[in-house]
Amino acid sequence: MKHVNILGVPFSITNHSTLVEQLNQHIQKHEKSFVITANPEIVMRANQEEAYMKSLHRATYITADGIGIVKASRLLGQTLPERVTGYDVMIEMLKLADLNHYRIYLLGAQRDTLEEVKKHIQQFYPHIQVVGSHDGYFDWQHNTISEEIMQSSPDLVFVALGAPKQENWIAEHIDQFNKGVFLCVGGSFDVIAGKVKRAPLSWQNKNLEWFYRLLQQPTRWKRMLALPRFSYHVIRQKVKRSL
Ligand code: UDP
Repeated sequence: MKHVNILGVPFSITNHSTLVEQLNQHIQKHEKSFVITANPEIVMRANQEEAYMKSLHRATYITADGIGIVKASRLLGQTLPERVTGYDVMIEMLKLADLNHYRIYLLGAQRDTLEEVKKHIQQFYPHIQVVGSHDGYFDWQHNTISEEIMQSSPDLVFVALGAPKQENWIAEHIDQFNKGVFLCVGGSFDVIAGKVKRAPLSWQNKNLEWFYRLLQQPTRWKRMLALPRFSYHVIRQKVKRSL
């Protein structure tokens, strides 16, 4: 798949439906894959932490989570077709998992949130086999999560530890597995459990989802400071290329 390089991060030139189709094929062929949906904050962090940049480079696909990434790709001359968010991909993969009776594993979020997510899946996707789960607050060095995943042999692993933990966790463990689609889904478990509301479609279509999240969780304001820094560095990348 073709890439566009945005500040050292290789974004896959793909749209939502093509990615979902490809992930389904990986499952059918028992192949392994690792999906990251990255926003400007993730790109800026990778530029500051070498180990995190290395984790990102282990991914099979990195998609544009956020209009800032799509706009940056336009400016750099190789356009990413649309935003492909972790939440949207998760919902589509749940539908496919129900249709095909796939096995899934859920990793992340608070314990009560995780229980709500399991209930939701049992109710709305009754043919999915939830073969295991673990909350997102565990001792990083001492745990048996990857062994549990290996033994339960899921087709899909949803990892909701937030950035940068989810990308680092998968990058650290992916070599141990020989199949499974590993998908980073950030705060999606909180949305499915009804703890956090996703922006209405009208806001999403106006590219204001980030603002809606800020209104819901004002403590996120500091994280948003990455955006102006991101814009500045993208413009620098463009200028450097044209010299
Ligand atoms: N989380 C977790 N373990 C941690 C830190 C966070 O499981 O050590 C979970 C948290 O409960 C929430 C999600 O990760 O469900 C992070 O959500 P956020 O909206 O911050 O995701 P991001 O925007 O970073 O992708």
